[in-house]
Amino acid sequence: MVELLFKSGKDLFDLLYPVSCLVCGDRLDDPCHLCSYCMEHAFVPTNEEGQESSKGMVLPEWITMQDALWEFDKGGFLQDILHYVKYGGLADLGIALGEQLGLKLLKNRFLDWNHETMLLPVPLHPSRQRKRGYNQSALIANGISLVTGMQTAPEGAMRRIANTRTQTGLNASARRKNLSGAFQLVNADPFRDCNIIIVDDVITTGATAFELAACVREYCRLIGVATIARA
Ligand SMILES: [Zn+2]
Repeated sequence: MVELLFKSGKDLFDLLYPVSCLVCGDRLDDPCHLCSYCMEHAFVPTNEEGQESSKGMVLPEWITMQDALWEFDKGGFLQDILHYVKYGGLADLGIALGEQLGLKLLKNRFLDWNHETMLLPVPLHPSRQRKRGYNQSALIANGISLVTGMQTAPEGAMRRIANTRTQTGLNASARRKNLSGAFQLVNADPFRDCNIIIVDDVITTGATAFELAACVREYCRLIGVATIARA
């Protein structure tokens, strides 16, 4: 009887767990939770002119470029979506967002495509990663890798050694202090003579990315930062 109702296990699965776009509610055939229309149009683009950084972002001398897809929308759909990627285990959505970011990076004139470029997802503290089961920044890096062909740095080459408190609610100098000494370079070899793009979900003051970059700057060529949102 079940066979008559459902042609395949996939149909049954779709009925039990329908996937719809988290923004417009449209039914989707793939599991990425965001339809292609909303991926293109639902959020406010940032750094549209392709400057070396988003408006108002001041880069330290060891960072060559910083790019992001969209403006963070506190209380809006993008905040929800990034929350689902971070805490809800929506891996396909994280990868799809990374692919979209990768397409933007391919057009970034501040990147140096003549040398190998390595993606460095911001590491989570091991206890946090164990609890969550994955690192959302690594999902985004996977997506970037799929469209650009860039490699992702081996897991464990860079470690987060301090389980820092959340940056939310801290001002710029408190954020820097909170992050100071948070990362440790375990193995410099993968980064030697490469360009590096640090990957994260959101950039606010840049304290996290800048601290991470400071750990690896002496070994690599150019360092960039790429995120889904700019808060
Ligand atoms: Zn949609």
